[in-house]
Amino acid sequence: MANETHPQSATPGAAYARFHQRSLTDRDAFWSEQAALIDWHTPPTQVCDYSNPPFARWFVGGTTNLCHNAVDRHLATRGDQAALIFVSTETNQERTYTYSQLHAEVQRMAATLQSLGVVKGDRVLLYMPMIPEAAFAMLACVRIGALHSVVFGGFASVSLASRIDDAQPTVIVSADAGSRSGKVLPYKPLLDEAILLAAHKPAKVLMVDRGLATFTRVAGRDEDYATWREQHAGTTVPCEWVESTHPSYTLYTSGTTGKPKGVQRDTGGYAVALAASMRHIFCGNPGETYFSTSDIGWVVGHSYIIYAPLLTGMATLMYEGLPTRPDAAIWWSLVEKYKVTVMFSAPTAVRVLKKSDPAALSRHDLSTLRALFLAGEPLDEPTAQWISQSLGRPIIDNYWQTETGWPILTICNGVEPAPSKFGSPGKAVYGYDVKLFDENTGEELHGAGQKGVVAIEGPLPPGCMQTVWRDDARFVNTYWKSIPGRMVYSTFDWGIRDEDGYYFILGRTDDVINVAGHRLGTREIEESLSSHAAVAEVAVVGVADALKGQVAMAFVVLRDASRAEKPEDALKLEGEMMKVVDEQLGAVARPARVRFVAALPKTRSGKLLRRAIQAVCEGRDAGDLTTIEDPSALYQIRDLLAPR
Ligand code: AMP
Repeated sequence: MANETHPQSATPGAAYARFHQRSLTDRDAFWSEQAALIDWHTPPTQVCDYSNPPFARWFVGGTTNLCHNAVDRHLATRGDQAALIFVSTETNQERTYTYSQLHAEVQRMAATLQSLGVVKGDRVLLYMPMIPEAAFAMLACVRIGALHSVVFGGFASVSLASRIDDAQPTVIVSADAGSRSGKVLPYKPLLDEAILLAAHKPAKVLMVDRGLATFTRVAGRDEDYATWREQHAGTTVPCEWVESTHPSYTLYTSGTTGKPKGVQRDTGGYAVALAASMRHIFCGNPGETYFSTSDIGWVVGHSYIIYAPLLTGMATLMYEGLPTRPDAAIWWSLVEKYKVTVMFSAPTAVRVLKKSDPAALSRHDLSTLRALFLAGEPLDEPTAQWISQSLGRPIIDNYWQTETGWPILTICNGVEPAPSKFGSPGKAVYGYDVKLFDENTGEELHGAGQKGVVAIEGPLPPGCMQTVWRDDARFVNTYWKSIPGRMVYSTFDWGIRDEDGYYFILGRTDDVINVAGHRLGTREIEESLSSHAAVAEVAVVGVADALKGQVAMAFVVLRDASRAEKPEDALKLEGEMMKVVDEQLGAVARPARVRFVAALPKTRSGKLLRRAIQAVCEGRDAGDLTTIEDPSALYQIRDLLAPR
């Protein structure tokens, strides 16, 4: 669907090329037009302040509020329209909140947070399952100018503790339990343990009691949301007008070092970027229903379960449960029931559906659905082919990261429809000056088909990370390289660009792995395994997996090798080590296998050869081994994995 303001040109792709070009060469005028998509309390006086690279400040001088734009703004025209549709196949609940009801709930939550002492600039950490109160809490935070910091519910106490220490929240909002496949997963014991481990102690913990699990309350600290909600019936809490550059949230993500980074997002730039993305990329319209199957603990959940659909005046479907329960048709039945027009998921979910019941789609009327967007991990051709044939709708791959908050590469069908190429997420999105650089020489690669590191020349467009929370130096040192006259942001992905400007993503350049679309740092998993008393040394690598894209594989050198000599002992020890990861980081980070080896392959200077281990695990050539200290370490891994 072409946007009427960008008529299609005679040469396919030319209209989009002009649009993209203008976003870079006439940047301020371009983004000033996009800024009109949201309400401003005070209009900005400057579109982009890039006087202190790489720090970009968007819509300077403007004041606005994310919650106003996502909720209040729609009350006059769509107060009775669905805003949040909550479906849980875990607890068999289904409930629709209109914009007016959402407005009331967000204010009750905002008033509660204020009663508990939260003021503008404070952080509120959310450790919650996919329930409406999580959405209320996020919107309530930004309503009062507090920053939310959502920690994925699948993370366990050590992961949570490190995020508590970094975010230093005044209040933590949590719930008694989540549920997966009908099994109750208590949250409160993990939270209590995390608070014990953390140096920072929140003043209050606000508990949403779903009645799934009993839990103990810490007197003076733990508060019951139901009681506060009752007390704040009808309370109005005005939106706090904040500077466009005021941070709206932090979201932790993994990198090369063990310590997760707090990605800090602004307010005005983020609102504009998301509203514009809904128009130019996702083509969602007010009054329609958007269904993103992600989790609010991830960036897709922030941008495309909560903010972008609501900023657009759409209804957003929030789903708690598995894609295959009660059966593999559940998502499609929701598409039919709620007349979903735009859907967003991940390749892993599609692979799971295909495996469970490939015919499930045909049982439902999916005529409202215009496109399925997939992101988070590479989209393999068989998966793309199967879903596109089954759905008979465009499948639109999009590549981005927690850091950017919205797509870097995709097809912008709202600007000019264009064909997809299998294996490619698409072209550089407007606002992003995407480049490829040679890893060794640092030279920009201009030619088609050359492999390089995907990079973005500064300034990053609106909506991308402002900095690493409380650590500007880490932001600069981790992501940016200075080349004469300009600064370039690394995405830490390998890529190739073809002669038509389509990019192909070839995997990470760092020690980050992608398991079922979840980004995990191998160093974090190594640190966790190392805390087991039997471990002397450990290496974790990501290995290709037909279902999950990648899985983590751990290779451990034991302090006492005899402990794993008998197969039954090795199996027992492996189980113990997996349990350590489950308890510390969460089952999401659990290695698929823990194998015991006599030594780990290293360079003569002692650097672990993770890439060589990974290659051997995937049955590939391990590459140049001239620097390896002891090749037998690698051979042992190869022999261990060889089919018997
Ligand atoms: P996250 O920050 O969790 O969204 O993970 C971002 C990383 O996931 C990227 O740096 C890529 O390595 C990978 N990724 C995300 N989307 C895609 C995609 N469409 N194709 C290939 N890799 C992707």
